[in-house]
Amino acid sequence: MLFQSVIGQTYIKQKLLQTVQDGRVSHAQLFWGTEGSGNLPLALAYAQYLNCTRRTETDSCGVCPSCNKVQKFIHPDLHFVFPIFNKKKNSSRELYCDDLLPQWRSFMLQDPYASLPLWLEYIAAENAQGTIYAREADAITRKLSLKAYESEYKIMVIWLPENMHPTAANKLLKLVEEPPDKTVFLFVSEDPNRIIKTILSRTMPVHIPPIDKQSLVAVLEQRNNLPATEAAKVAHIAEGSYSQALLLIQSTKEAKEFFEWFAFIMRNAYTANFLELLEWMEELAKAGREKQKNFLLYAQRMLRESFMMNRGTDSIVYLMDEESQFARKFSPFVNERNVEELFREFNLAEGHIAQNGNPKIVFTDMFLKIGKLLRK
Ligand SMILES: [Zn+2]
Repeated sequence: MLFQSVIGQTYIKQKLLQTVQDGRVSHAQLFWGTEGSGNLPLALAYAQYLNCTRRTETDSCGVCPSCNKVQKFIHPDLHFVFPIFNKKKNSSRELYCDDLLPQWRSFMLQDPYASLPLWLEYIAAENAQGTIYAREADAITRKLSLKAYESEYKIMVIWLPENMHPTAANKLLKLVEEPPDKTVFLFVSEDPNRIIKTILSRTMPVHIPPIDKQSLVAVLEQRNNLPATEAAKVAHIAEGSYSQALLLIQSTKEAKEFFEWFAFIMRNAYTANFLELLEWMEELAKAGREKQKNFLLYAQRMLRESFMMNRGTDSIVYLMDEESQFARKFSPFVNERNVEELFREFNLAEGHIAQNGNPKIVFTDMFLKIGKLLRK
């Protein structure tokens, strides 16, 4: 990864470049910052810069053989350790990070602003927490005891050392303190307080602050094609985290669809328009149970917010523009006389969907009752 591809963080980049140019590369560094701040992308850019054979004062070249391999995550002197799960289903063999290296590469190529939950989902870790197991320490030691294959530095990137088993951490102490010549540990952490103290004290901390708003807005406009006003809004809520911003974009997309469904139900239930309902059922049936359930949860939130608006306490609600316009028009229909029962209908429907009820029956039933309640 090039430094210029890392979002914002101008000051940190400058400092990191300077250490290499001055030959003051510390052998154990801790890049720490919240998820989505760019701690991992910065470590990748730094690793690439260290071994680039044609680096400039401001960045790696991006095209030399070393850069080429680093960018594909296949450089033999750049190693990765990351949280994994213990064993594959129906297998008794314990896994090492190397077993999941192909997945790691494609995951990183997709988006180095990764989060642990996304990674665990990617490797289908199901309910596993994601751990760096004790056995990984031996693999690390073995890899670093070899001579560098082709580059100046051997680099070990350890993503989320806070998830390292204490036994692994203890086994690594000596190596972290006195690694072989031209060996660099880059620990990338979101929560250094959870790193075992003896490791922590052997690293040089590099604090990565949240991404500045201006840079985040710019990248949301350019990379994610958001209109300026929306980019500003997302950046504001994401608080300097690019991964949070991506999640928000995703959930806004879904919320837009849910909003249309909600507005549809309310409008047509009020006018008892069954023909429209039947047509809509076809669309709904395609959505799948999980999404239907999420929609019913969303509907309950909208109901609550419409009711608050009715009571004149709308300053505390947080809605998309279209939502707030609709809620404003709709709020007179949600009042003390029906709000509890309306709420219960959505809640009941949610329960029935969760328990495998037939969606068409559940939604038709809900539709009829809501119509009556709205006309109350
Ligand atoms: Zn290069």
